[in-house]
Amino acid sequence: MRIVLLGPPGAGKGTQAQIIAGELGVPAISTGDIFRANVSGQTDLGLKAKVYMDAGDLVPDEITVAMVKDRLAEPDSKAGYLLDGFPRTIAQGEQLRGSLEQLGQRLDRVVELVVEEEELVRRLSGRRMLVGGEWVQRDDDKPETVRRRLEVYREQTAPLSGFYEREGLLSRIDAIGTIEEVTARVMTALGQPGRSDDS
Ligand code: AMP
Repeated sequence: MRIVLLGPPGAGKGTQAQIIAGELGVPAISTGDIFRANVSGQTDLGLKAKVYMDAGDLVPDEITVAMVKDRLAEPDSKAGYLLDGFPRTIAQGEQLRGSLEQLGQRLDRVVELVVEEEELVRRLSGRRMLVGGEWVQRDDDKPETVRRRLEVYREQTAPLSGFYEREGLLSRIDAIGTIEEVTARVMTALGQPGRSDDS
């Protein structure tokens, strides 16, 4: 299956992407994770991306699209994938559609995780990640950057919801609840009900 997970920062995309991809046996491909790995590794790509990430802005489409194309050309993407954090602009959505068309492929489903903005701010300001045994705040989870990221989401990414709705691919999911509850809703939207709670 080829799936896109849409949703604002703090909606739980990363967590759900890992679980759902595991259930479906496809790789979870997170552009944010790939950028962060490049930032830590101080690669050319990482140095370019960091400036935008630290400001809460999107990395330019041409850099991001080239990186995703490379990733989707890896052998493990053949049988499908779950994209987390891509596409993030209509231009990226169009590029993805074009690349898939060239391969005679299409997306199976786009799932949007819906959470109201007040809750997102609350979640992001409290979010910590484990780095080298220590819980640290992501640079772009600082309050002023969080505000910018939410604004960028509203302006540049939210229009993808209509883009995929017009293609008949979109399922909107209420992403308030426990991780298990949200996973179950997503699996149902993917036509795989019961897959996540049959263990
Ligand atoms: P995320 O982990 O998905 O919240 O992404 C963290 C940051 O990486 C974003 O705020 C952007 O600066 C950058 N980023 C991730 N995915 C994309 C994308 N598809 N297009 C542009 N920038 C991205």
